[in-house]
Amino acid sequence: MIRLLEKHVADKIAAGEVVDRPVSVVKELVENSIDAGADIITVEIRKGGRTYIRVSDNGCGIPSDEVLTAFKRHATSKISKVKDLDSITTLGFRGEALASIAAVSRVQLITKTKDASIGTKTEIDGSQTADVSPVGCDDGTTIIVRDLFYNTPARLKFMKSDSTEAGMIIDFMSQIALCYPDIRIRVINNETMLFSTQGKGDRLNAIATIYGRVIAKALIPCEHEDGNCRISGFVSNTGESRNSRKNQIFFVNGRVVSSKVMDRAVKTAYQERLFQGRFPIAFLFLEVPAETLDVNIHPNKREVRFDNERAVEAFTVDAIRKALSTMNAAPEVSHEKIFRFDQKIKEQKEKKHTTSEKKEVVVNIPPAEEEKQINVKELLSSLRTETKAAEEPVEMVKQIYRPFDFTDLTVKGTVFDTYIIGQDGENMYLIDQHAAHERVFYEKFSRAFQDQEKSRQIILAPFLVEIPASVTDDAFLDYLSEAGFTLEEFGNRTYRITEIPYFMDLSEAETFLKDFIGSIGSESDFHSQKIRDELAKKACKAAIKGNMHLSDEEIISLFRELSGCENPYSCPHGRPTYIRMSKTQIERMFKRV
Ligand code: ADP
Ligand code: MG
Repeated sequence: MIRLLEKHVADKIAAGEVVDRPVSVVKELVENSIDAGADIITVEIRKGGRTYIRVSDNGCGIPSDEVLTAFKRHATSKISKVKDLDSITTLGFRGEALASIAAVSRVQLITKTKDASIGTKTEIDGSQTADVSPVGCDDGTTIIVRDLFYNTPARLKFMKSDSTEAGMIIDFMSQIALCYPDIRIRVINNETMLFSTQGKGDRLNAIATIYGRVIAKALIPCEHEDGNCRISGFVSNTGESRNSRKNQIFFVNGRVVSSKVMDRAVKTAYQERLFQGRFPIAFLFLEVPAETLDVNIHPNKREVRFDNERAVEAFTVDAIRKALSTMNAAPEVSHEKIFRFDQKIKEQKEKKHTTSEKKEVVVNIPPAEEEKQINVKELLSSLRTETKAAEEPVEMVKQIYRPFDFTDLTVKGTVFDTYIIGQDGENMYLIDQHAAHERVFYEKFSRAFQDQEKSRQIILAPFLVEIPASVTDDAFLDYLSEAGFTLEEFGNRTYRITEIPYFMDLSEAETFLKDFIGSIGSESDFHSQKIRDELAKKACKAAIKGNMHLSDEEIISLFRELSGCENPYSCPHGRPTYIRMSKTQIERMFKRV
């Protein structure tokens, strides 16, 4: 027999589509608060949101006579005509959230509009509406959701642990806080304040509050615009990295997304700037024309599809590279880090003295700094001690947009025959001449392969190289010839080198070949770009002389060559070519400031 479902059954079924776990309740309520024009939103949860979720805002409020309508399915103040559907500017518009939430929990609503002299209060228990009564309260709306899914045990079974559910809510709220730096967002978990943003529109401050000051300090601004596309946000300088992609958060047109295109762009932009297996931090906000973006490919809208993926990727790469070529991108030596490192060594030493066994103590160089993830436990314990600090403004290094150019530096000398000291305004730089030289050499070497007309130089006294018997394939000959070497067969697995690439000197060429030949095995596939790159990187490293005193002219010419490089900021293996220390930092170390 076909029959219409009873209202409360239909409501529960429909609710499942909108509300599947505590975080979706928080999402709907917070989006309503944003739509209501609030600039202060407080979210409080207990037991992962299962027993208690409160969202309070100072938005427009709901007029007393509309309170009950708001809980009806398809009740919305946001659209009224079909035509409105094409111009939605609010986050909600379906009019389903409140009805759905009320169907599967016990809801209490307190609200007041600015014009009303008194507020309104109502309670709804599994869609059963109670009376509306007047109440004294501030302007805005508070919705408290208790005992979520108490009447849908099947759904309750799907709940993860309280800390996992809370983690999802905190992640979501963190993203909202980043997306809306103008709104003061407070998040309270089990009666502990997790974070409270300032709401003054400063995104970096919001990042510092949520992700910690250590991360915020490592960030440099990333701003780029091209036609209809715009990107803003922050990426980490090359001195900072993490062991996972967890601290890469992308927003496209105001929504958090997971996007392979953006992942790839970040990876490409940092290529050779970071060691393999390390990931930069990135908070990027991309704006593209709405019609070039499909947000409906995934039910939770986290995945998006761009019409022109390549263009978006290239645009993002450009934006990040531009940021990385500014003065701020130089890895900084902070005295906090040096202090922490000293401290660690001291602690290790003390440990060594107190242990009776004579074990060798390994001094672990601490990672660039501690990882900070949005993890409830960690957050809770760290924020207990840090909440106060987090509310202070971050002491950020003044952002300098001027692109960094090595030729702007005044050379002040060298130390250890390895590090060049350069100065530019209020900053001191240490340039690793070995890493710098390696970078220059590597780029020239890579370019040599692309040159149709090889620039070779004839050497006066040709030298011989011997190929080990293990090398059975002579494909390496083509590779060397492409690089600009001329080899003549000399019999008995020996070759005579008569010409070398123009940019190498004789000793560089000799060491290069020696190392190259030593590293090729019978299995080396010289057509694989990866293997070619690996060989080039290895051989370049070997070709560079160790400690060597450079004259001022040589330094200047090295700087000039470095400036001409595509990526002058790190050696081919990802080590930085230079580090920066500001005058203020030095003064701080001497306790002058
Ligand atoms: P939608 O957001 O799709 O319109 P909801 O069920 O989420 O549907 O909310 C229904 C209506 O209740 C909204 O259109 C709005 O008028 C009102 N409302 C809900 N939450 C708030 C709030 N925090 N402040 C003011 N009005 C609200
Ligand atoms: Mg809504």
